[in-house]
Amino acid sequence: MEKLEMLYEGKAKRVYRTEDPKLYVVQYKDDATANNGLKRGTIEDKGIVNNKMSAILFQLLTENGVPNHFQELLSEREQLVKAVEIVPLEVIIRNVSAGSFSKRYGAVEGIVFDEPTLEFSYKKDELGDPLINDSHILGLKLAKKEELEEIKRLALKVNEVLKDFFSKKGLKLIDFKLEFGKYDGKIILADEISPDTCRLWDAVTDEKLDKDRFRRDLGNIEEAYKEVIRRLEE
Ligand code: UDP
Repeated sequence: MEKLEMLYEGKAKRVYRTEDPKLYVVQYKDDATANNGLKRGTIEDKGIVNNKMSAILFQLLTENGVPNHFQELLSEREQLVKAVEIVPLEVIIRNVSAGSFSKRYGAVEGIVFDEPTLEFSYKKDELGDPLINDSHILGLKLAKKEELEEIKRLALKVNEVLKDFFSKKGLKLIDFKLEFGKYDGKIILADEISPDTCRLWDAVTDEKLDKDRFRRDLGNIEEAYKEVIRRLEE
């Protein structure tokens, strides 16, 4: 499937139309941003890692009954996906305290939760993606009640599948962000799952193997991304 004109360029990806109105080509870039776009840079070959990793994980999720937009890998940096209408929510699941959770509640990083937490942010760059609750989502008509329930059910299922998979690869899944879309009237998982959108710590040393290396200038960023994909492909 050939990509035609670009429809959208985001911080980390470009989306192209194809001849089939129901399919898009997603191209993964090396550009990285953090702190709501205040910090910018590039992470060499990040696009290659994130394209491959998303493909591996979306296929694993398909096998485990989580419907998602992935169709096929096209090249090092490109994949074919279903053309969904994105629900403007970031769905964040956490297994261990870190990042904005720790900051917001003044909690150390590394508290292991008995049950995963789930929160939503409203995808609106100009507002800095504010936290939003269920009743506000319904009030703003960002999703219908049944859609919201389906999003939560699928997000928790994704967590179970991925936690188990990463643990076999010597990685702890600390937290992650998902985005969902509508396709043929149904809610399916979309966007990406990569070290840009997950926190992954080495199971033994708790070394951070994700975008926090970029956010916090920890060094060895490229190496960390490559280490994750190396372990996933083993
Ligand atoms: N996340 C993301 N995009 C965002 C915000 C968060 O992919 O715009 C991911 C982030 O990589 C982490 C999880 O969601 O794995 C939770 O992030 P958090 O809310 O702690 O925010 P951050 O520390 O990134 O500000």
